[in-house]
Amino acid sequence: VMDYFEQRCQGSKRMAEQARQVIPGGVQHNLAFNLPFPLAIAEANGAHMTDVDGNRYIDFLQAGGPTLLGSNHPAVRSKVLELLEHCGPTTGLLHEYEVKLAELVCELMPGVDMLRMAGSGTEAVMGAIRLARAYTGRRRVIKIGGGYHGWSDSMVYGMRLPKTGRMEAVGIPRGATANTQESLPNDLEAIRRRLRWNRLRGGTAAVIVEPFGPESGTRPVTHDFNAQLRKLCDEFGALLIFDEVVTGFRAGLGGAQAYFGVKPDLTVLGKCLTGGYPMAGAIGGRRDIMMMLVGGIGTTAKRAFVGGTLTANPLSCAAGYYALKEIQRTDAAVKAGQAGDRLRRGLDQIIERLGLPYVAYNMGSIVHLQTSGVMLLDTSSLLKLARLKNEAKQRKHMMEEMGAAYTAHGIITLAGSRIYTSLADTDEIVDEALNRFEDVLKLV
Ligand code: PMP
Repeated sequence: VMDYFEQRCQGSKRMAEQARQVIPGGVQHNLAFNLPFPLAIAEANGAHMTDVDGNRYIDFLQAGGPTLLGSNHPAVRSKVLELLEHCGPTTGLLHEYEVKLAELVCELMPGVDMLRMAGSGTEAVMGAIRLARAYTGRRRVIKIGGGYHGWSDSMVYGMRLPKTGRMEAVGIPRGATANTQESLPNDLEAIRRRLRWNRLRGGTAAVIVEPFGPESGTRPVTHDFNAQLRKLCDEFGALLIFDEVVTGFRAGLGGAQAYFGVKPDLTVLGKCLTGGYPMAGAIGGRRDIMMMLVGGIGTTAKRAFVGGTLTANPLSCAAGYYALKEIQRTDAAVKAGQAGDRLRRGLDQIIERLGLPYVAYNMGSIVHLQTSGVMLLDTSSLLKLARLKNEAKQRKHMMEEMGAAYTAHGIITLAGSRIYTSLADTDEIVDEALNRFEDVLKLV
């Protein structure tokens, strides 16, 4: 593997060295694994990427999820170029594409009556939490164990491990996370206990969850979990926030909320929302809650403030509108999901054939390839979770090495353990990828 990088990736190596002088660590994307150095990409189209040295890869990173249509989809690109000819990327005033995109999302997602764009998933989460606090007049927010909701202070909340009480996050004062609590997925009794405890101390503003389970389903939730959470939130007067940054629109055009038939009070969107174009984020939700973003101008009604100079710019909104239209027209979520199914089935067969202690599973176009089944076990106690975390840390390095090995065989994954398929993944591409996966897994 190291020979591959040394012999075939000299251009990337040089760029990585240059980057390290001016960019901390030489990488700005947490997704760009760096063993032995990150690849520099020159071209991305459909299901493929080509690096600066001319090596071509099957692209199962898909930018970390946003490009459900495949990279640089021509139907979206041509509309974006047309818009750029006329008004450039941004004006600061209202543009018709803001309205078009908001109308479309409201039509598609059951829990979205109104939409407000944000600069990223992180910002949208911040806004949704602020809205929930403003609406309920309460402070506490429960997140579901190990879920990723961006990097705002209150959401980068390390699990308090038993005994040590250690926080994972550095540079975040205790006060910033004082109102964030974490409950393990699938343990509804523990969540109920927490809600009950909070009720005696001012109540719970919101429960925020990735509806497929923490970390894009790295720890999946049971099919019933979201519906049960909905009931619990209603019982305790807390708002239910779905973080659909990954699941909207990969779980289908109506997101995970349509898939599970559970309507959240607030929805956080990102990634696919702008089809891979920048400024991907939005808060959606119930009209009465969303109207708190306005307050009562000229009245004493309270307003939850959000901002952003480039937020809701015409470029992002047009890209999002045409990407969603194209996803709708081509049935991209279903087709990418079928590619995910085919890939997972193939990986299952390889794992079985080679007798490896690995696990492959998928939720449509989100495919997980774990080097251990341990993540799937019951995580209903802190002690178990601490043990899992320990194992996870040891495994992380191994997964990254696997990621580098897949790369050397022409496949880019997310850190060796997650795969996003797209509309561009034909059966031929998936089968070719399976051959390459087998070549690597044979060496384990
Ligand atoms: N929520 C979830 C579920 C995510 O997966 C991510 C990003 N991977 C975010 C929020 C943060 O979004 P962004 O990177 O756009 O800030």
